[in-house]
Amino acid sequence: MSLAPIPQEFINELLARVDIIQLIDARVPLRKKGKNYIACCPFHSEKTPSFTVTPEKQFYYCFGCSVGGNGLSFLMEYEKLSFVEAVNLLAEQMGMEVPQQSKQHEFYKASASLYGLLEEVAQFYSKELRQNTVAINYLKQRGLSGETAKKFSLGYAPAAWDTLLKTFNDTENLFAAGLLVKKSEGLGYYDRFRDRIVFPIRDRRGRVIGLGGRVLAEQEPKYLNSPETPLFHKGKELYGLYETFQLNRQLERILVVEGYMDVLALFQADIPYAVATLGTATSRDQISRLMSHTQEIIFCFDGDVAGKKAAWRVLEQSLDLLTDGYILRFLLLPNGEDPDSLIQKKGRAEFIAYLQQAQSLGEFLFGYLLTQVDINQLEGKARLAKLAVPLIEKVAVGIMQHKLFEQLAALVNMDVVTLKNVTVHDKSHAIKTMHKKIHKPNNANRSSPMRLAIALLVQFPQIVKSLSDKQCHTLSRLELPGSDLFVQLFLLLKQNPELTSAMLLEYWREDESRYKILKQLINYPLAIPASGVQAEFHDLLKHLKKAAAEGQIDKLLQQGKQSGLSEIEKKHLYGLMLNNIHDN
Ligand SMILES: [Zn+2]
Repeated sequence: MSLAPIPQEFINELLARVDIIQLIDARVPLRKKGKNYIACCPFHSEKTPSFTVTPEKQFYYCFGCSVGGNGLSFLMEYEKLSFVEAVNLLAEQMGMEVPQQSKQHEFYKASASLYGLLEEVAQFYSKELRQNTVAINYLKQRGLSGETAKKFSLGYAPAAWDTLLKTFNDTENLFAAGLLVKKSEGLGYYDRFRDRIVFPIRDRRGRVIGLGGRVLAEQEPKYLNSPETPLFHKGKELYGLYETFQLNRQLERILVVEGYMDVLALFQADIPYAVATLGTATSRDQISRLMSHTQEIIFCFDGDVAGKKAAWRVLEQSLDLLTDGYILRFLLLPNGEDPDSLIQKKGRAEFIAYLQQAQSLGEFLFGYLLTQVDINQLEGKARLAKLAVPLIEKVAVGIMQHKLFEQLAALVNMDVVTLKNVTVHDKSHAIKTMHKKIHKPNNANRSSPMRLAIALLVQFPQIVKSLSDKQCHTLSRLELPGSDLFVQLFLLLKQNPELTSAMLLEYWREDESRYKILKQLINYPLAIPASGVQAEFHDLLKHLKKAAAEGQIDKLLQQGKQSGLSEIEKKHLYGLMLNNIHDN
């Protein structure tokens, strides 16, 4: 749920008053087409309009680059505003006054001054770089041009211990921004970055939130980053993403590398779509953020043992984020090489050739697992299936998942159906899969019933009103994979039946992955006539209830086998089974 410093009721009110058509039309002229309005997308370059605004939902969506959201999201994206800034601007236009909640408001005010300070420090360091021939020569010798240095606002931190202390004379904020280190004796501070090339790290709005520093000579540590601060979270940010995106909003692919210098070397070799993690393993947050910018991600690693392990961790993190339409690939470079060294030695063409050879998700997954089993032995085949099935099951049901099952089936010499029958041990999961096959509420959809139910709920929030108290009671306790989001939404709507799709979305703004799911589902083409929505929803609910009951029956049966059931549990089980037969 949202952690915004502004009360949700106020945001609802604001969104109720704003007309998204007017708001967007003032910036991007819209043309009416049927119930919707269209335009060429302002966020990627295109010749035929795929940017659509729906007055009914107060929502915009681009079918080309998947940006989308409500009026606030549009202002944030288009005007590059923070959430709070967008709320303030919109409120001002609507003649409303934003209520402030003091504590968080203070935090925002404090952060605002830190952003300003970090920007000033970055500019100061870049001025220092222009005056320092040693640093300039170092960058030249590493093959970097002045243009690249400028594009990424590189700087140089002088060797003294108190440059920032003296220049900015603001110990408290310098420390809060991660630029100073407290002396171990506890008396006073000194500059964190000394005699280093400085790389400003920007957030997606282009604000400097931290710095990276690299030594010029052979010295340890070679790289140094800002520590975690209120503004800087290593696990969430990616170096170079802002710069890359500034250059091209229409990124076909993004290459994830490990170092700042890799990003710069690739940029200079006219491969301007690389970003770097900040000295930590690639996190789910980062992967999901990248997926909101592009359809194809290539993870690049050193081909040594450590590199392979790191690549495997990325694969494990990504599987359950994967849905059809995304391509993840893995590039393992020759031992001991990084993109920087490789491009210096071999040049652009050869590096591109490496990129083209990057392994698909399936190739990497099975390639990695095959090093752990002897596929020529029957036991090895069984072991491979045992290792691979739980991983494949994490991928969303769809073509991608099916292809992975097919590849596995081919490796173990089985057909897909038999493979699934013998390997999918988790019965509740098997039931779920089976149901998906026999019960497709809408033939055109490959989506799961749970996703469909959520899509109906977010697109037609009013349907909640059609439910009886008994139905509500059952739904609020629904237990199925993915049902927690459904239940949250459902309860929210139950309490606030007047919320629109655009308002609903705001409740998840701070939850990046769910925000993304909801955004997609609000625009999910349902192909159901308005008159059929209610019936479809009730059908789905029946189905979900049944699946949940079956899951529970299964759990109780298993428990009965293992540790026995209490009288109450037995009664509960019989009740469930009876009901279930009844529903058939
Ligand atoms: Zn677009």
